[in-house]
Amino acid sequence: MDKTIIAGPCSEESREQLRETTEALAKTAQVSLIRAGVWKPRTRPGNFEGLGEPALQWMQELAAEYGVRYCCEVAHPEHVALCQQYGIQTVWLGARTTGNPFMVEEICNALRGSGMSVLVKNPMIPDVHLWLGAIERLQAAGIANLTAVHRGFAMYNNHGYRNAPLWEVPLELRRERPDLPLLCDPSHIGGRADLVAPIALAAMQLGYDGLMVEVHPHPEAAQSDPEQQITPDKLTQLIENLTIAHRTADNGQLAAALAPLRQQIDDIDHELLGLLARRMKLSQQIASVKQEMQTTVYQPKRWEQVLQDRLQIATALGLNADFTKELLEKIHAESVRVQLG
Ligand code: PEP
Ligand code: MN
Repeated sequence: MDKTIIAGPCSEESREQLRETTEALAKTAQVSLIRAGVWKPRTRPGNFEGLGEPALQWMQELAAEYGVRYCCEVAHPEHVALCQQYGIQTVWLGARTTGNPFMVEEICNALRGSGMSVLVKNPMIPDVHLWLGAIERLQAAGIANLTAVHRGFAMYNNHGYRNAPLWEVPLELRRERPDLPLLCDPSHIGGRADLVAPIALAAMQLGYDGLMVEVHPHPEAAQSDPEQQITPDKLTQLIENLTIAHRTADNGQLAAALAPLRQQIDDIDHELLGLLARRMKLSQQIASVKQEMQTTVYQPKRWEQVLQDRLQIATALGLNADFTKELLEKIHAESVRVQLG
C-alpha cells in the first residue's frame, strides 16, 4: 500500500509488551513508524500515566535490535530533551497540547534545531485555525517535516463516536495546506475496535495519506484505551481490505463521466444561493414590520412550527433529519442576525 501506516500501542507498558508489538508489526512490513505513548495525558487523575524515561530506553534498544523507528507524544519541553537523548526522531503533539499555544511555543523552543519530525494532532475543539496555528509555530521553529493527524473532536454530542470526526475540519485544513500530509487516527475517533475499519476506509476515500492506528498484542489487557486497540493481525487484515480511492480523480474518462452531473450540481448550488438571498431579504422586511409593531425578533413558537414543518417535508424527501436540522438552525441564526441589523 502506498500509504503511511503508523501503528502501535496507546501506551508502552513494559519492555516485553513493546517487544511483542514490535516483532508483530515488523513482520507486516507495512508499518513505517511504531507509536507508543510514554507520557499519557489522562482526563482524570489516578489512571495509568505512562512509564517515562525507562520506556524510552527500551525503545532505543529495540529500535537497534529490530531496525524500526518509534514515535511518542511530547507534552512538555523536557519530554523533547529526553526523546533526543534516547534517539527518538519523530514525536507528536497530542490534541490537548495543540490547543494550547503557550505550550506549543515552549515545545517549539525545545525542538528548534533538533531536525525532528513532528505529527500534529487536531486540537480537542473543532477550530481549524488552532490546528494551523500549531503547525505554523512549528514551521517558524524550523521543523520541516510536519504531518497533520485527524483524531476527531470532543463534542457534547458525538453521534456514537468517542470523538466526532467532523470531516469538514480536516478537509478545510487540507484546502489551506495541500502541501501537508494528512493522516487519520481512527482509534481515537471511534473509541471502539469495531469502528476502526469503517473510519479508516472513509479516510482513504477522502484521500488521506495514511493512518495512525492503536495496535496492542492483547487489547483487553491494555492499561489505557483497551476498547479501541486492535491486534497486529487485525491491522494486517485492515490494510488488505482498504481499497484506496484516488485523490486526484480529475483526469480523462472519470472527469468526462462526472461532467454532466457536476453541471447539475453547479446549477442547483446557484439556485440555492439565489433562494437564500431572497429568504434573507424577506427577513429584513420582517424585521421592519416587527420593529414597527414593537415585537421581538425571536419568536420561539414560529421557529418551532418552521422547524417541525420543514423536518416533516425533509423526512418525506429522504433527507437526513440531523443534517436538515443543522441546516435550518444555521439559516435561522443568520436570519436572526440579519434582523438584528
Ligand atoms: C494518543 O494518541 O494515545 C493520544 C492520547 O492522543 P490524543 O492526543 O489524540 O488524545
Ligand atoms: Mn490512546
